[in-house]
Amino acid sequence: MVYFPIAFVHPLDEFDVQSAIQCAAKLNIPTVARSGGHSYEAYSLGGQDCSLVINLGHFKNITIDTISQTAVIGTGIPVKPLYHKVHEHWFAFPAGLCPLVGVGGHMMGGGMGFLSRKFGMAADNILDAQIVLANGTVVYSAKEYPELLWAIRGAGNAGYGIITALTLRIHPIPKIVTRLIINYDFDQTPLLFSVLDQLGPNFHQNLTLYVVINSDSDTGPSTSIDCIYLGSADEFRQHVDVQEFIKLSKPKNVTYIENDLYYFQVVKNMTLHGYYKSPSFFFDQRGIPDEGIKYYMQFMKTFKCRAHSKTLLIAGGKVNEISRNEIAYVHRGFKYHIAMAVPFPDAHSEETKECIQELEKFNKHFLQNYASYECYQNLIDRQLDNWQC
Ligand SMILES: Cc1cc2nc3c(=O)[nH]c(=O)nc-3n(C[C@H](O)[C@H](O)[C@H](O)COP(=O)(O)OP(=O)(O)OC[C@H]3O[C@@H](n4cnc5c(N)ncnc54)[C@H](O)[C@@H]3O)c2cc1C
Repeated sequence: MVYFPIAFVHPLDEFDVQSAIQCAAKLNIPTVARSGGHSYEAYSLGGQDCSLVINLGHFKNITIDTISQTAVIGTGIPVKPLYHKVHEHWFAFPAGLCPLVGVGGHMMGGGMGFLSRKFGMAADNILDAQIVLANGTVVYSAKEYPELLWAIRGAGNAGYGIITALTLRIHPIPKIVTRLIINYDFDQTPLLFSVLDQLGPNFHQNLTLYVVINSDSDTGPSTSIDCIYLGSADEFRQHVDVQEFIKLSKPKNVTYIENDLYYFQVVKNMTLHGYYKSPSFFFDQRGIPDEGIKYYMQFMKTFKCRAHSKTLLIAGGKVNEISRNEIAYVHRGFKYHIAMAVPFPDAHSEETKECIQELEKFNKHFLQNYASYECYQNLIDRQLDNWQC
């Protein structure tokens, strides 16, 4: 999706942002903030032609205070330098997997990733913010306006103002972390979910786990588990529930990779380029119904384009310890979240059009019949029915 903005502004500080907003208001031009530019629907280009794009690329500061366990950051940075910088002090911050996602759009819409089970969503860890409001007022501390601070943590990329800085709670992490990769035969997917349904909610919070299901017409569909455990492989193995899980789910192979670089584990994940869609599905404590798993597997087996999907185990984690009303990020109490990523190298080809139609059909049926009615707003999709409601 490409839109043509009327101009890009590259402010150096909050006063430049203020001037740009006031100038655009006088000229009746819609303004939009751009942080990492990863909006699936290109909303940081305005989502329509002729917007004024306020690019926060110069807001790059990162200041760490290990005593108060906080970081103050500009909203123009991607998550990678944040992970890198806090890790120099053996701290981490819970946010997404893609290293280039910008903190501006990402954290304000939620922000889930490898540390969510332990520390919650990125938005749960926002303590304060500096915002330039639509009338040009600079709010230096959103804490003085509790409703504003409440709203931006989960809906902050929806137009309350342009957020120029954030104060974050950062977390000490052990020096050694362990990555665990478990491969399965694709046909074992239902068994895997039934074992995960029973044992997953009791897994230690140091463990964040994704079920990864990929479709690829060349190699066929595949299923694996990708986890990060905050501790050594030996400590990990002492968690009997995980050993039980491995025994019951009958994997093809199990690999432990011990590493002292948490951020390395995260940023080495592959980034896909080009246009793509990313359907989102939440499942309550009953899990994914058997029929739903069959439907999902059938789609991954027969889909003509490539599709990646990651199911995050939310149950038993920090995200669910926070009430639905505490901040504007509302998706609490779920067992799993599936995020799909379907890349389309050529956005205008016939094959892409067919695949998008097929994906939408799947998306609609899966949402209506097997998932909850909620979708994660960071995986925005303008083709969803009634998404504005
Ligand atoms: C490859 C890829 C991987 C992803 N992986 C994950 C993941 O692991 N976990 C996850 O939770 N999400 C993930 N996402 C989704 C991601 O969180 C959203 O796309 C997010 O909105 C991107 O933020 P951004 O700043 O990069 O995007 P932008 O396109 O810059 O902004 C997105 C929206 O936020 C608004 N916005 C941006 N900055 C500000 C600001 N400073 N103040 C106010 N509004 C602002 C924009 O106007 C726009 O509406 C991924 C997306 C992609 C493309």
